[in-house]
Amino acid sequence: MPQVGQGAKPRAGVLGIQGAFQKHLEALERAGAEARLVLHKEDLDGLDALVLPGGESTTMAKGLDRLGLYEPIQAWAHAGGRILGTCAGAILLARSCQNHPVRTLGLIDLRAARNAYGSQVDSFTAVADAVAAPGFEAMRCIFIRAPQLETPGPAVEVLLRVDGLPVLARERNVLVSTFHPELGDDLRVHRALLFD
Ligand code: GLN
Repeated sequence: MPQVGQGAKPRAGVLGIQGAFQKHLEALERAGAEARLVLHKEDLDGLDALVLPGGESTTMAKGLDRLGLYEPIQAWAHAGGRILGTCAGAILLARSCQNHPVRTLGLIDLRAARNAYGSQVDSFTAVADAVAAPGFEAMRCIFIRAPQLETPGPAVEVLLRVDGLPVLARERNVLVSTFHPELGDDLRVHRALLFD
């Protein structure tokens, strides 16, 4: 994992193809990073962390393909780059995905079921279950046409659940949330990406 220089701000990128990238840039800056958009493989150079935002995973997958970013992001993450995928971003990081599957990056050992809460409950806010990993207690989670995370492998640590279902999970340097931590004032997920 890249070492963040003492006193230096971590450098973070946000994939800028589509979706909630502006709010992530702002959250990363508030969490103490220098943040910039990523649209080309050269933009990954020198980054400590990368966010794949929420939005529409079908559109983002097409953009990743068109821009030739699948392999560079995989190589960058395999070299230890810290990466966070939120909602559609979590779908893209998964081992595989269900319900109109898209090509995923396969960087975390779980399956994402797209739109798994169904059209009746497009968006909702919920407080996470009481049993949470230290540092993530009582998080208010905002879900927008969220996926569910299924069949996590043995190396995946589930950090938070809502109604018993995983909503925040980590495998080494890869973090996924099915909710939108960039909306609201709680910076714990962005801080975990940058500093944990
Ligand atoms: N439903 C979207 C998808 O499947 C994800 C929604 C979101 O990122 N808020 O790609």
